[in-house]
Amino acid sequence: MPELPEVETVMRGLEPVIMGAEITALDQRRKNLRIPFPDKFEKRLKGRKILSLRRRAKYILIGLDKGEILVIHLGMSGRVSIIPKGEDVELEKHDHLVLSFDNGVTIIYNDPRRFGMVFLVAESEWESHKNFAHLGPEPLGNDFSAPILQARLKDKNTSIKQALLDQRVVVGVGNIYACEALFMAGINPLKKARLVKGAKIELLVKAIRDVLTRAIKAGGSTLKDYRHADGQLGYFQHNFTVYNQEGAKCPTCDCDINKTNGIKRIIQSGRSTFYCPKKQK
Ligand SMILES: [Zn+2]
Repeated sequence: MPELPEVETVMRGLEPVIMGAEITALDQRRKNLRIPFPDKFEKRLKGRKILSLRRRAKYILIGLDKGEILVIHLGMSGRVSIIPKGEDVELEKHDHLVLSFDNGVTIIYNDPRRFGMVFLVAESEWESHKNFAHLGPEPLGNDFSAPILQARLKDKNTSIKQALLDQRVVVGVGNIYACEALFMAGINPLKKARLVKGAKIELLVKAIRDVLTRAIKAGGSTLKDYRHADGQLGYFQHNFTVYNQEGAKCPTCDCDINKTNGIKRIIQSGRSTFYCPKKQK
C-alpha cells in the first residue's frame, strides 16, 4: 500500500513533467474506482492547464486553471506511470485512466484492486470537502509539534500506536512508520496514548519526522531513474528497523536476543505491530 513517502514521491515525480502543461485528452476505461469518476470527466479536463501540485495526507492535489483541483488517491494498489514524449503508449490490464498532455507526455493511472479515487473539487471548497475536513496536521508541516501532538493525545484511551493511525491526530503516518517511529522514540506501542507526555512526546515528533523524511529521501533518489525502469512512480525498496523484522536482533538496542527472542510482533486493531519490549517502555 502506498504510504505518505510514496505519495510524496509520485507528486514530486509528476511535478516537473506536467506542471504548466495542458490536458489534451482523457481515455477513461471504466466508470469508477472506489467512487465513480466525475460526470463528463473528459469534457471537464480537456484544455485545462496544470497550475500546481501539492500533497495533503495521502492525496495528490493537482491544481487546474478555472479554479478546480484534480484529486488522486492511490488507495491500496494505485500506480502512476509516465510515458515520455515520443514513446509508444502500450496499455496493460488495470490501466483505468490515460491522460495526454500538450507536451507529448502521457500519464497512466493503474489500480488492480481499485480502492483508489480520482475526483474533482473546487479550489475554494477542498478544505471543507468530506475527504479533507477532518484531517489533522501534516507530520512534516509546521503545525505538527510536541504541544500539538500532546493536546491531541490527552483524551485518547487507545494505545499510542492506534492513536498515530488516527487521521484526526496526525495524517499519513501509517502502520509501518508508526512502528518505526515508536521504536526510535523508545515508546511501547501498547502504552495508552494519553500517558505519553513531555520528553517522550518531543522524541516521538522528532522520530515521526525523521522516519518519513528518510523514506521520502530514499524515494527521491529513485525518481531520476524512472525512465530506465518501467516508468512507474512511487514504489521503492525500504529498509525498516523493526517493521517485518520479527525475531531479528534490534540494531540499536542492547537487549540480549537470547533472552528476548528479538523483535516482537503483536496484533493491534488487526494490524501487525513490531517492537522491542526492552527498549520500548
Ligand atoms: Zn531491543
